[in-house]
Amino acid sequence: MQTPKNLRALDVRAFAKAQMHLEGETPVAEFERLAADCSGEVACHVSWAAQGAIDPEQRGKDDAWLHLEAKATVPLTCQRCLHPVSVALLIEQDFRFVADEATALAEDDESDEDLLVMEDSFDLMALIEDELLMGLPLVPMHDACLSEQAPTSDEEEAILAEVKPNPFAVLAALKTRKH
Ligand SMILES: [Zn+2]
Repeated sequence: MQTPKNLRALDVRAFAKAQMHLEGETPVAEFERLAADCSGEVACHVSWAAQGAIDPEQRGKDDAWLHLEAKATVPLTCQRCLHPVSVALLIEQDFRFVADEATALAEDDESDEDLLVMEDSFDLMALIEDELLMGLPLVPMHDACLSEQAPTSDEEEAILAEVKPNPFAVLAALKTRKH
């Protein structure tokens, strides 16, 4: 198999059969959904590597497997001080491709790996982006902001006092209102 040119239309079966290794440095700006969650200009890159395999666990199936690793440090918005905070994302995940959605549902519970439905033309970049998005913290914050529990304004203090059990939700709500 030749090195695929279009990583958004990958022949997964051929990729797995050839036990191909692909890797790259892709600008975060090319991952539109991820870039949209970042704060300001995003000049950083996602380093990723994908390894194909057929049945590495020898379970008598010839399913295609994909081992994916990706890492990036992205600027998010601190939910407390609203300044940018650098957050390191690290993904390491095995995927197994199955024939259809029904098989994926049936086998999902007993599988450590994630199951994906086999497609003739697979979007590897979208998978990397999906995984990075799932790795984003729900409430990004500076370590210092996280440990500093004192409210920063009277308004925030009043709200925090009202709903003590979940200050994170309150901070998220505050941020939405400021938009
Ligand atoms: Zn902060």
